[in-house]
Amino acid sequence: MMKIDVLTLFPEMFTGVFGQSILQKAAEKSAVQYNVVNFRDYADNKHNSVDDYPYGGGAGMVLKPQPIFDAVATLKENTDSKNTKVILLCPQGERYDQRKAEELAREDHLIFICGHYEGYDERIREHVVTDEISIGDYVLTGGELGAMVVIDSVVRLLPEVLGNQESHMKDSFSTGLLEHPHYTRPADFRGMKVPDILLSGNHKLIEEWRNKEALRRTLLRRPDLLDNMELTAEQEKWLQEVKKEYK
Ligand code: SAM
Repeated sequence: MMKIDVLTLFPEMFTGVFGQSILQKAAEKSAVQYNVVNFRDYADNKHNSVDDYPYGGGAGMVLKPQPIFDAVATLKENTDSKNTKVILLCPQGERYDQRKAEELAREDHLIFICGHYEGYDERIREHVVTDEISIGDYVLTGGELGAMVVIDSVVRLLPEVLGNQESHMKDSFSTGLLEHPHYTRPADFRGMKVPDILLSGNHKLIEEWRNKEALRRTLLRRPDLLDNMELTAEQEKWLQEVKKEYK
């Protein structure tokens, strides 16, 4: 079972997210155990303060090293895992993607540190953290939403979490491509029709259509993904067919 510890000053933010949908089911199936910790509880000063003014002056407050060093040390002592990943959410970190989600899903203990205010004392970064993750090139108020994004995308990859119905194997990015379009009933909605091939019952042709549409989507929306992909001879043939349609 994967163990996920979250260090935050706003533990209530996680109640809804961990108590709903797939993240909740994953805990019920014992695929994961969540533990949300307010690192203010680890502050060793009488006012429980976790931040202070920056040396050298300037705007904003900086998270002090002591509460986070001590909280991480305790969480590590409380686990059998020999290989804990300590993840700092940070706009300056490595840009998060599906490849990183797959890498983290192979771990057995993750600790997320959610910052707030202006930032962290640099010694946290240097001595406690193993991975720094940014969820995109924009600045959030705190690391909580980033941690939720990463945790959601990791937990749904754990074995047994998604049933066959919700399999992630064909999701966008898992295959290296964007996923093909989906349709459901009715076949004709206010004159807007489902492609005939999906109603044909011919599984081979349907599979071929889906593969080709995934290539079309990727070509039109994210051509950069194709640069890093080794296509099979068949995919290469379909891609050339799609490209011809736009000439
Ligand atoms: N002064 C910092 C800087 O310029 O890099 C930004 C601090 S931000 C207001 C407060 C916290 O939100 C950060 O310490 C981090 O935990 C979180 N955060 C903000 N943007 C993020 C992003 N794109 N990805 C992950 N975490 C982010």
